[in-house]
Amino acid sequence: MRLFEVDHSKMPATPKPSESRVPSPESRSWAARDLAVLWHPCTQMRDHAPDGALPLTPIARGEGAWLIDHDGRRYLDAISSWWTNLFGHANPRIGAALKDQLDRLEHVIFAGFSHEPGIRLAEELLRIAPPGFARVFYGDNGSSAIEIALKMSFHYWRNLGRVRKQRFIALAGGYHGETLGALSVTDVPLYRATYAPLLGQPIFVDSPDCYARAPGETWETHSLRRLDAMRATLARHAEEVCAVIVEPLVQCAGGMRMYHPAYLTGLRQLCDEYDVHLIADEIAVGFGRTGTLFACEQARTDQGCVTPDFLCLSKGLTGGFLPLSAVLTTQGVYDAFYAEYATGKAFLHSHSYTGNPLACRAALETLAIFRDEPVLERNRVLAAHLAQKLAPLAAHAHVAEVRQTGMIAAIELVRDKATRAPYAAAERRGLRIYRHALQRGVLLRPLGDVIYFMPPYIVTTEEIDLMVEVATEGIDLATRA
Ligand SMILES: *Cc1c(COP(=O)(O)O)cnc(C)c1O
Repeated sequence: MRLFEVDHSKMPATPKPSESRVPSPESRSWAARDLAVLWHPCTQMRDHAPDGALPLTPIARGEGAWLIDHDGRRYLDAISSWWTNLFGHANPRIGAALKDQLDRLEHVIFAGFSHEPGIRLAEELLRIAPPGFARVFYGDNGSSAIEIALKMSFHYWRNLGRVRKQRFIALAGGYHGETLGALSVTDVPLYRATYAPLLGQPIFVDSPDCYARAPGETWETHSLRRLDAMRATLARHAEEVCAVIVEPLVQCAGGMRMYHPAYLTGLRQLCDEYDVHLIADEIAVGFGRTGTLFACEQARTDQGCVTPDFLCLSKGLTGGFLPLSAVLTTQGVYDAFYAEYATGKAFLHSHSYTGNPLACRAALETLAIFRDEPVLERNRVLAAHLAQKLAPLAAHAHVAEVRQTGMIAAIELVRDKATRAPYAAAERRGLRIYRHALQRGVLLRPLGDVIYFMPPYIVTTEEIDLMVEVATEGIDLATRA
């Protein structure tokens, strides 16, 4: 059954590493023009110098799970272009919806004005999200969603007269974006350390991350045990804390560290007990990544599943087409801001492109694909195939762990398997794998020495086999001496 209209007969054989890789003059020209004027994100630009560690790869077009450069070389996008793409590049269905929207309304101020895609999208998000949400506030990227949730939580308590509540609790190893507020609650030293003097001071608490579990201990036991630290912190600081912010189930940018959903169930109870909000940052894990539409759904309670006070969504929301984010919250939060203007209680936060109609339309079509196609069922099959293909890597002399949650799988490379001592970061072993994979026509982008797969959902089992084969070769190469 061909679910997503990807014509695999068009896929050429994968190039062999020995094949000539000299880029054409056209391709070289785009790279040169880029490097003359641009400054790329999350990049030491020196790496792109002629004698640098990594070539810049200009891309001419995309097709399904593949990116195609100016010389027609194809790269399997095993990381969904920074975790955004769900149903393939140039997805015809989302593209057609956007073309229709382009002729109607590209943008309108969202204060005092409204539009059909924005309204419909909010209705649809509230319909599919865990029960208990009543309001949707739009932002235009993941970090802005985090800023909105943090400010709303703080402002909620202030509107209630609880002015001592000014701090946040976040998890060790968590990542919530790189604007100053979002970076404040991020605990990835690579991104945070330099800017620490500019940042707010949250309280970081031990993560339920199961990489740290004792030998023989189950994920559930380990994650539940880590609730003790959260309970102790709340007992001590709840009076001054607005909210606890977490990435449900997978701490992605912090190294694809994973934990058991029972932690979220316990955390929800603790937040209720101590009168503190729960912010779920599902920017990376939302929309089917972890096996359920939202990761919070796996955290069961007597009422069904955990509903946070704020749910932050972005990345896959538009299928990877356009920047957009949404913060879902409850009627209770909304009501604390609803008053006569003179009370000064309104949430006066805005971005110029708030609720952009094109982005909302792309999101609506993305959600329509979830409605019309058995996406989660198909992902289960693909995830099982990926798990089976990855299993042998666990025995590798430099692999400490192979872990997986739904359509996210990660391989933790170490120098010493017995002690789990990592390689020196300066050796940049992961980068060698990145380079090898590019040669072989696969886009992997290891997080340090954590190699991971987060493919678009239209990936085929053959493409999964290719990803794993190329990663395995890369790991062998990179761990040799
Ligand atoms: C990517 C990410 C963000 C930030 O989103 P941007 O759109 O890159 O600003 C925040 N939280 C999590 C969990 C993310 O993965």
